[in-house]
Order: sequence, then structure tokens, then C-alpha cells
Amino acid sequence: MLYAWIDGVKRPPLAKGERTTCRDCGGLLTSVIPAENVRHWRHKAGDCDPWSEPEGPWHLAWKEQFDLSCREVGLIDPATGERHRADVLCGVGTPQATVLELQHSSISEDERAAREAFYRQAHRMFWLVHIHNEAAFHGYSFGFSLDFRSRTYQLGGYTYGVMRWAGRSSQFIEKWKRSTAHVFFEFQGQIYYLASEAVSRQLGGPFKKGEFALCPLTRADFIRAVHGAS
Ligand SMILES: [Zn+2]
Repeated sequence: MLYAWIDGVKRPPLAKGERTTCRDCGGLLTSVIPAENVRHWRHKAGDCDPWSEPEGPWHLAWKEQFDLSCREVGLIDPATGERHRADVLCGVGTPQATVLELQHSSISEDERAAREAFYRQAHRMFWLVHIHNEAAFHGYSFGFSLDFRSRTYQLGGYTYGVMRWAGRSSQFIEKWKRSTAHVFFEFQGQIYYLASEAVSRQLGGPFKKGEFALCPLTRADFIRAVHGAS
């Protein structure tokens, strides 16, 4: 986790040896100040959010786009006591309250579905999936797939392109097409909204395996959407 409450302030660690307690679980947190990566807090006895993953500059830069109070918000399922920390939660107490999950590493379909089931109980949910070539070559496949010329549609003031996944296996894109949340991709600094099943139907879908529709949008539009603008 990048932020913790210490001396009445929510902030990243500033120095080696700093300690505080996690407001979610009461566990001891120690500061980690790596030379090459972002500074963060580590639970001494294991993170209270089992979905917690290592975070880097990409996560930090996105979290910093939102008010400090919206970053890393602990949520609990009152029925089961299950506890998770939303990367970003905007609009608490409004009908547009939105959880944004920032996904840099790959995630299994089961975990994707589990996170959606948890966060969507009481919120809208957005994924922002960082597409790159670090673990698999999704970046190349995605880049070669982009096509906003062959089959374009106007919907709600936005331009959608329908395209085919260019990789050997379409498992990656099919997994995100099945999401019950709103899925956005970031590729080389550009944001794309992946047409949901409902939107796909308005674009002539449902689409065949390997086919999908994207709508490019600006970072400002995306941030506004997380804040509840439609
Ligand atoms: Zn904790």
C-alpha cells in the first residue's frame, strides 16, 4: 500500500524506519523505501487485503490523479467480514460511487470475477488495465489490433471501432469482454473504453470470438467518468 495514516496524516512513508498501524486491520506497518521503485508501506504480518499486488510508478501516477481521500479506501462486506482495499473510490454516498481498480499485472478470470462481485455490491466499478509487453506480448497484439477505419460507429457522441484481436490467442481480450464492470485499457498513454455487452449490442454485436469494439477517450474524460460523469 502506498498510503497510511501516520501522526494524523494520510501519506506515503518519508523515511526508513517509520512505523504506523493499518487503519483497516490494526496491523503494524513499516516503511519501505526502495532505490528503484515507489516507496510504500508493508504489513509486518501480511497484508489484510489478500488481493494486494506489488505496485509501481504506474499505480502511483494514476492514484495521484485523484484526491488523497479517494486513494486506497478500505471496504468491508458487512455480511462476511471480507476486507479489500479499493485502489480508488470516488463519490462515496452518491449513486455514482465508483471503484477504480488499477491492473498492471495479469489477473486470472476467477480473481477478476471475485473482485467484481465484491466491489459491485455497493458501487459502480471500473477497471483500468495497463497493456504492455512485460509478461506477455499483449502490447504488440493490442497495437496491431487497433482499427478505427474498417467498422466505425457513432454512439452517444463517441466513435467506436470494431476490430479483431491480432494475437494468436484471443484469451486476453475474451476475458475482459466477459467482465461485468466497465473496462478501460491504457496503451502507450492512450485510454480506450472496451464496449460492454450492452454497448456491443448497440454496435451490431454480440461480437464473434476475437472481435471487440473500442472507443478512444482522453485522460480527462476518463477521470471525469470515474468522478461520476456519464
Ligand atoms: Zn491492514
